[in-house]
Amino acid sequence: MKKKICLIHTGGTIGMIRGESGYLPKAGYLETVLDTIEDLKNPAMPDFDFFEMDPLLDSSDMAVGDWNRIGEEIATRYEDYDGFVILHGTDTMAYTASALSFMLENLNKPVILTGSQIPLCEVRSDGRDNLVTSLLIAQDGKFGEVCLYFGGRLLRGNRATKMSADGLLAFDSPNCPRLCEAGISIRYLPVPPAPAPASEKLTLCHLLDVPIGVLKVFPGIRFPIFDKLMTEKLRGIVLETFGAGNIPGEGNALLPIIERAFKAGSVITVCSQCPQGTVSLGTYATSSPLKSAGAVSGYDMTTEACVAKLYYLFSKGYSKEEIKALMEENLRGELTKI
Ligand code: ASP
Repeated sequence: MKKKICLIHTGGTIGMIRGESGYLPKAGYLETVLDTIEDLKNPAMPDFDFFEMDPLLDSSDMAVGDWNRIGEEIATRYEDYDGFVILHGTDTMAYTASALSFMLENLNKPVILTGSQIPLCEVRSDGRDNLVTSLLIAQDGKFGEVCLYFGGRLLRGNRATKMSADGLLAFDSPNCPRLCEAGISIRYLPVPPAPAPASEKLTLCHLLDVPIGVLKVFPGIRFPIFDKLMTEKLRGIVLETFGAGNIPGEGNALLPIIERAFKAGSVITVCSQCPQGTVSLGTYATSSPLKSAGAVSGYDMTTEACVAKLYYLFSKGYSKEEIKALMEENLRGELTKI
């Protein structure tokens, strides 16, 4: 029996048209284009149903409520389909993939996000292959997790990051091997599995719009300027540090801020500005005090995964101590502990 895939259009370049002020999504347009793609009618393809979200978004406009709506679209149809392909803009695709990987608890069917850098309405669009191959990979059903397919690469969703603003190989997962490479054939690769689901029943965790912040350190940063923001306004903070988790000498000013923030209920996670490699608190004297001040290590998590994980853990209602501990645990394949 042919597999049945649910194709959900959320917006993004793949289905955009040219408007007066630049590309923008247009309701009802993509379905008419899909009708003209002969490959989609090839017997090798799975059956699929097309659903379009309202409104369609440029993914730069996506926020937590939109992740919840996408999660609902999947969860309500979960039993009716063998897999899901989500058409999405590239700008925040890695954030949505990360968020869905946490929100879709006990997922064991493929959910593949894809899109394109060039709209389908233009010549040389990369959308056709991204869509066709994503449907074929969803049909194969080798991975019951949230993935991102783009430019011949299938990536673990919560490890993916957008690497190029204009290249067609726009995404990669520098800290996790690719799940599959699609050249002449679709070649699945051995990858450490994500932790197995605890039950067979999919549950959707809706995310709360808790205030989360990302602070990128830079030479000369004046931490006291961020004091009030970190101790009074934000619940979850991702600190993008140098290399393996290092902060500038001025960081002494940061430590009491971290202590106060933690006392006030915030969780500060240390990530690296380097796309590849891991945070290792204590390797250098410049990172040691972060841990004792109350920050947690994000190890090799992407900023996208860290942000999504903070939303998820705060939404689950855990205490700050539980959130601190879980930020350092591998919940969905999003980190490798050293
Ligand atoms: N701004 C677009 C979006 O993220 C870019 C893209 O899809 O490539 O929706």
